[in-house]
Amino acid sequence: MKTKMQIDVITIFPQMLERIIKESILKRAQQKNIVKINIHNLRDFALDKHSIVDDYSYGGGAGMVLKPEPIFCAVEKIVSNRKGKRKVRIILLTPQGQTFNQAKAKELSQEEHLLFICGHYEGVDERVKENLITDEISIGDYVLTGGELPAMVIIDSLVRILPGVLNKRESFENDSFYQGLLDYPHYTRPRRFREKSVPALLLSGNHSQIKKWRRQKALKNTLNKRSDLLEKITLSAEDQKILKELKRKRDSGNAITF
Ligand code: SAM
Repeated sequence: MKTKMQIDVITIFPQMLERIIKESILKRAQQKNIVKINIHNLRDFALDKHSIVDDYSYGGGAGMVLKPEPIFCAVEKIVSNRKGKRKVRIILLTPQGQTFNQAKAKELSQEEHLLFICGHYEGVDERVKENLITDEISIGDYVLTGGELPAMVIIDSLVRILPGVLNKRESFENDSFYQGLLDYPHYTRPRRFREKSVPALLLSGNHSQIKKWRRQKALKNTLNKRSDLLEKITLSAEDQKILKELKRKRDSGNAITF
């Protein structure tokens, strides 16, 4: 069976990633041939016998910089071995990049071939940014030691939404952000735990009422925790009615109960 997506990662710490891609959903997606993930050790592309991939920063200052030659060699080899004439998105992980979110995960999940470059130390030689990459992506406004964790965050989030990876589409379609809202609350057994009960409606078997309850709770969660999201989505007339009522209760100081 043809693998639908190929993901390559270039790193100086391959073992950090190798373990993660052999677990859980990433493991299952590879077993189902939906994605093929290859981890490449940047040191294998070093030009000298000591496998040196970093050097001092021109102009002085603390911290090493990943050299351009091994990165160029690794990228060129991966791109030249690509299947057919597949377009390759070459992504540099950097705190200076566009901030990653669910919309970006959806966008990347439509690609056939992604290549991630993990920086380390002070980062990578600027010529990599200027000449090699198609995207710079950050996972948030903070600085991590290397691009390995950001690469795994991004890969995990886009692989789980590839068709066929999760058993039911609704597993991710109702997740927070996928359709613009936060998720509704979830409960499992036991029905009663330390005097606290599961909402009775969820045990009723009335599926249309449960669906309605969940929508109301998703709207309430979003209003309470991330009202900024509500400005970015188009809501149905029914949703708008629910929201109006939630806001009215909130503003009048009444507890919002559904
Ligand atoms: N000197 C760089 C700067 O301030 O822009 C930060 C270098 S950081 C210590 C080392 C590497 O970790 C980066 O090259 C990048 O690959 C990765 N990294 C750190 N924070 C990141 C973030 N928020 N998102 C994506 N990658 C990040």
